[in-house]
This record gives sequence, C-alpha cells and structure tokens, in this order.
Amino acid sequence: MYISTRNEGINISASEAILNGLAADGGLFVSATFPNLRERLEELIKLDYQQLAVEILDLFLNDFEREEIVDIIKTAYDKFEIDPPLKLKRVEAHYLLELFYGKTLAFKDMALSVLPYLLSKSLEKQNVAEDMLILAATSGDTGSAALSGIKSIERLKAVAFFPSGGVSEIQKRQMLAEKSDNTTCYQVFGNFDDCQTAVKTLFADKDFKQQLQEKGYILSSANSINIGRLLLQIVYYFYSYGELVKNKTIKLGDKVNFVVPSGNFGNILAAYYAKKMGLPVNHLICASNQNKVLTDFFNTGKYSIKREFYKSISPSMDILIASNLERLLFDITKDAELVKKLMLDLKDKGEFILEESLRQELKDFYAYNLTEEQTLAVINKVKKEKNYLLDPHSAVAYGALEYYLAETGDKSKNIVVATASPYKFSAAVLSALDENETDNLLNDLEKLAQINQEELPKVIREVLAEQGQAKAITREEMKEHIFDFVD
Ligand SMILES: *Cc1c(COP(=O)(O)O)cnc(C)c1O
Repeated sequence: MYISTRNEGINISASEAILNGLAADGGLFVSATFPNLRERLEELIKLDYQQLAVEILDLFLNDFEREEIVDIIKTAYDKFEIDPPLKLKRVEAHYLLELFYGKTLAFKDMALSVLPYLLSKSLEKQNVAEDMLILAATSGDTGSAALSGIKSIERLKAVAFFPSGGVSEIQKRQMLAEKSDNTTCYQVFGNFDDCQTAVKTLFADKDFKQQLQEKGYILSSANSINIGRLLLQIVYYFYSYGELVKNKTIKLGDKVNFVVPSGNFGNILAAYYAKKMGLPVNHLICASNQNKVLTDFFNTGKYSIKREFYKSISPSMDILIASNLERLLFDITKDAELVKKLMLDLKDKGEFILEESLRQELKDFYAYNLTEEQTLAVINKVKKEKNYLLDPHSAVAYGALEYYLAETGDKSKNIVVATASPYKFSAAVLSALDENETDNLLNDLEKLAQINQEELPKVIREVLAEQGQAKAITREEMKEHIFDFVD
C-alpha cells in the first residue's frame, strides 16, 4: 500500500497513487514497504528486461493482475527499436548505461512510454467515469516523451506547453511530430518558469477543473513525482548489475557505484530504492551542473533555493526544487511531521536544514557538480581519449565520477547513467569538439554522426522531416486552447 511523505496515516492502492500523482496533503506517495530481493538476485539476473520489469512492478502494483502488468510492459517496450530497450557499453574501466533508445532519445522514455498504460488501467480500476487530460509544462524532454507515450492511448489526452524561446530545435520538432488526435503542443510566450507557473495556476483553478469535469475530463500531470515513473526506473539498475555479473566483470554480491546526472532527483532515487531492495551498491554519486543545489545539500545539510538560476547546456538538469528529494527525506527520517516541516521551511523561507544526526543517513551518497566549461572539456576529452561521445547531461555524470575516484580511490566497478543521445544536444556537443555549428541542423547532425562513426539514428531523420509549426499563444490564452482541444 502507499502512504504520503507528509502523512503515514493514509493507505491507498497503487492505482489510486498513480492516478492522483500528488497526495492531498501536498506530499508524495511512497510504498509503505520495500521487499528485499537479495536472496532472489541470482534468479532475477537471468531474466530478460521485460520479465525483470514484470517481477519488480508486480511487487509494487498491489491492485494490478500479473497478466495486466505483463501486457503493459510488452506493449510499451516492444515499441523500442532495440530489445532490451537499453545498452550497457564499456568505456575503458567504466560502464555507460545508455537509456536513450526510446522515441525521444532521452531516459524519460523508459518510464513515460509505460506510464500512460498504467494511468489508463488505473482509471478503469478506480471506476473513474471521466477521461484524463494531462497538462505538461516542459523545458524539452518531458513534453515529447509524454506526448509520445500518450499518443493513441484510449481515455487519455495530453497538451504540452513549451516556452517560445526555450527549447532546442530538435526538441520542438519532436513534440510536433507527436501531435495526434489526442495529443498537442503549444509554444507559450515567455520562459520556462512562466510556462510552468501558468500550468500550476490551471491546476489550482477550481472553476477550470469544474468546467473540464463537465466536459468529461479529470486533470493530471506527467512529471516525475508520479510513483509509477519511479518504479519503472528501478528496473534498469537491477538489469545493468546483472549484465556485469553475466559478463563476469563482477561476481554476484560485489558492489558497484552508480553515477546519475540529476535534476528532479527521480532517477537517482530509483537507484537508492534498488539498493534498499538488496542490490549490492556501494555509493550513489549525484551529479549536478552549475545549478548545484543538490551538491550543496549533500555536502552541507542545507538545501537552499535562494540562489541564481542558470540556463545550462544540460537543460534537463536546470532545476532548483528537486521534488523527489522529499521521498529520500521521508525514507531516512521515517517522520512525516518532520518532512512536512522541512518542506514548509523550503516554501516559506526558501531553505531547510537537515540536522547533523540525520545527515549520517545520507552516507550512501556522494555529490559533485561541474561548470559549463568542465562539462565541455569532459565531452572533448572522453571523445578524444576513449572514442565515446557523451551528451552534456551524461558528461556531467562522467566528470562527477572522476571527482569521486580522485577523492575516494574506490576500486568498485562504476556504472555511469547516460540519459540522452548526443544528437539531441548537437549544438553543445559540436562546440565541445571545437567544431563549428552551421545554420543547417541536418548538416550539423550528419557531421556529428560522422564524428561518432555511425549512421544518424532513424528517429532523428524522421523528426527532421517534421515541418509543422506550434501555435504561439499567451499564458492568458491557454485555457481556451485547452477547451478547443478537448471539445
Ligand atoms: C530529466 C533528465 C535528467 C534528470 O533526471 P531526474 O530524474 O529529474 O533527476 C537528466 N538527464 C536528462 C537527459 C533528462 O531528460
């Protein structure tokens, strides 16, 4: 059953937690218990990816039939170009866990290609009469992954709003390519914060919700606070560990480190849950860009958003409020009242401080941050010395690993999570390689593919062929466009 990080008293089923996203008290849903899989590890690593995903989800989705889970996982992951839906690549002494083989070339596809099926099944299980409308403010990756996942799923509709000047050309065309009868996108004049604030305002607007309900819709969001997304992310940590055992890099039981480029703290939290469930993990290395609010938190115990917000070359990590950290705080304190107080401090004072005794509970984590220059230098160096092309997000993680090794001398094997394809962020990657960007995106991407000694991925070609335009609207016009779309 699921409880809230701000109230252990509630007790709801998986489908209810997935449908609601956020608890009524403002907290996040967490599983009340975590099974320990240590004794089953030998058996689990023999499974293929889909079977492993079913085993893990079956432990948490208490009101789903196993057959339903099997169907959902198969339908979603069969759509990936490759099976298993990821790759583990050796780059000299380290391993890169590439999670960018879904439709939108970023790791969010690993969960967002499955979540819509969980949502639509949950509507059924909870006997909801209305259909579901999902609104997403996006700085790029979430929007396209959500639209792609929701396209052609019954009883779901989705609208993504992106800032007019804020997303890359590829990201914009990816969203346009995912427009369909039940999905659409708009560009909103302003920056990402304006966009996000406008969407949050709609979520809090009772009249708007009432009007939508009359039209037959309930509102939901697709961001990473949904517990369904996290459960799906636990799978690849177990899977990649198993791969290292199977190829005899490690023995069953040896510990590995995971290095995760972090923003909203969802991906690395899934790694923490995997460790909690018995996966042999030594340390979790939390990598940040110049928005280093998490680095500062792990190193000082103080979480403060009273700082400048930077737009970086790893934009999907440009976040000051890492929502999923609340789940970690709950896990280490087991105290919903305390979590509530810390979150209230964050809201009212822009910061909270974790007391010294509780900081001891964070010793699984190491945290580092990279500047923009350091990130570019890592891309350049790893390409030159190891012939591997990192995207800027994955480069932040790679650089963090180098800091970690210099600090600790740890001899465990390291798995660096690679969250996006370098083609998705071609401008930054070309500049890191000291190549000139031209005014033709296709030429730039071809050049990058040539440098990377491979063919340009098919999905990129398809997206480049996309000629559509997103209607540009003001924040005030969002409501009427939503009504037009659902009518
Ligand atoms: C979303 C995203 C991240 C950050 O993941 P969190 O779960 O928010 O910490 C990192 N890299 C890429 C490419 C992303 O899209």
